[in-house]
Amino acid sequence: MKKILKAKLPELWQRISADFDLFLPIEKNKILNFSLWKEEEKVNLDRVRTNASPKHLVFPQTETYLKFKNENENKKLSLKAVKAKGEEYVLFGVRPCDVESFKLLDNIFLRDPVDTYYKEHRDRGTVISLACSNPEDTCFCNSFGIDATSAPLGADIATWDIGDSFLWKAQSEKGQKLMENTKEFFIDIQEKDTQNLEQEKDDIQENLKDLPFNNIDLSKIKGTQQEIFDREEIWNEFSERCLACGTCSYLCPTCHCYDLRDYKGSNHNHGEKFRCWDSCMSSDFTLMAHGNPRTSQMQRLRQRFMHKLVYYPKNHEGVYSCVGCGRCVEKCPVHIDIIKIIKKLGGENNEL
Ligand code: SF4
Ligand code: SF4
Repeated sequence: MKKILKAKLPELWQRISADFDLFLPIEKNKILNFSLWKEEEKVNLDRVRTNASPKHLVFPQTETYLKFKNENENKKLSLKAVKAKGEEYVLFGVRPCDVESFKLLDNIFLRDPVDTYYKEHRDRGTVISLACSNPEDTCFCNSFGIDATSAPLGADIATWDIGDSFLWKAQSEKGQKLMENTKEFFIDIQEKDTQNLEQEKDDIQENLKDLPFNNIDLSKIKGTQQEIFDREEIWNEFSERCLACGTCSYLCPTCHCYDLRDYKGSNHNHGEKFRCWDSCMSSDFTLMAHGNPRTSQMQRLRQRFMHKLVYYPKNHEGVYSCVGCGRCVEKCPVHIDIIKIIKKLGGENNEL
């Protein structure tokens, strides 16, 4: 483990960005998102939650797969595969819940048959986590066994804010290489730094205990898959006011539904096939030639939460497809969120 003084960070960003695209939590008009760093940008490492998760770096919002062209009047179509675009990048400041979300996405996109676009985006990235110093009221990652103070396993480098400096610990070959190539910025840690780190972790754990949604109890959701599916009174209650805006899906680090579409060029003899994010909350999601298998908003909302809380864990050794990041809790315009659903399914009569 090494340390870097906070005052040295701008120079480190300069150094890293000479070799990589560098993505940091950057604030624009008070909205924080992972964006490409440039010297004039306002980096904010104090606020714990970015508006959107960093999933767009491994799963871009739109991505072209192939281009097609009508070669001649005989309607011979030529196809050209388009490779995943992007430079090698470093992503700094990923909170432990968002690091965990990459593992959940890996379970989907890297299993056989491997999604080669996703894999390329994953392979060219170096992920640097940052432990949470100031968890927000809507955070509940510990309900899913995630430790906000930890060095998450999926991070190439783990970092902690200990006041006037950050501690950096390489956890993979990529992480070691990056720290080796920037070693002029790092200094050895002293015993007091280790003490500060332990103190910082204890303080965060105390803060976590005071959060309103600390340790939401998922074990209270009882019943078989079919019984939970059939609890229509609960699904109706929530879906009646759902606007189907898709905000929850687009901001969620673990949602990964997409649509495949063709775009026809203006002169109608060429076009592109691309994929773009989609949401199971939307009425044309999974629309097929014969119609839509989910015909009501109740069915669509039920699908989203059944997937996160029942189907995904059933297929992935009990792991839920939620990391407790709290984005849907904060952003749903009509205050539907996964905590209320968990509580309701667990038998609590919470206010909607
Ligand atoms: S953010 Fe809220 S209103 Fe919008 S789709 Fe999700 S649950 Fe429905
Ligand atoms: S369901 Fe909500 S709390 Fe869970 S990971 Fe998605 S946005 Fe975060």
